[in-house]
Amino acid sequence: MSQNTTPTTDAIRKLIEEFNKLPGIGPKSAQRMAYYLLRAPEAEAMLLSDAILSVKQKVKLCSVCFNVTESDPCPMCSGDQRDRTRVCIVEQPQDILAIEHTGIYKGLYHVLHGAISPTEGVGTNDIRIREILERLRSNPVEEVILATNTTLEGEQTAMYLSRLITPQGIKVTRLARGLPYGSELEYADDVTLTRAIEGRQEF
Ligand SMILES: [Zn+2]
Repeated sequence: MSQNTTPTTDAIRKLIEEFNKLPGIGPKSAQRMAYYLLRAPEAEAMLLSDAILSVKQKVKLCSVCFNVTESDPCPMCSGDQRDRTRVCIVEQPQDILAIEHTGIYKGLYHVLHGAISPTEGVGTNDIRIREILERLRSNPVEEVILATNTTLEGEQTAMYLSRLITPQGIKVTRLARGLPYGSELEYADDVTLTRAIEGRQEF
């Protein structure tokens, strides 16, 4: 290794490597970000490193809905602003952001943290399925909305959940078609998502 002949330093190379691991960041962008920070005032770089640290140190999962939160239970689960008769089941915390952005859903949520995927070795015990079933047993809920992605994994997960939840006498609905097949909720636009929520159908 003739690292002393490369036109950069170990510290910069390390930072580029770390940025390059982030989703959507290629080697060029990683390099641009690293050199940007090198030139930036130290205070600005500190703000970034503090923000990264505090997301790791302060953010945890709500013990009720498993959304990200800094207080447990999260404000949605502990407050009285939400319609507690409805629970919307999503794959990821980001999906809640997308649904909340439409402004038409006022119920509670449950985050599975994944979807069943035999090909990737994700089974029913690897995501928060047991937790939602327990939650539904101990809280009176009228409707469960299955808002998993319209991918194969999302559909399989919705099917599995509906088979377990329907016998409990709870109405189970699925977001309406209109979300293109294979799409992730997180990226759906407001109009499409609003239509899918409003047009949800019994499973
Ligand atoms: Zn919660």
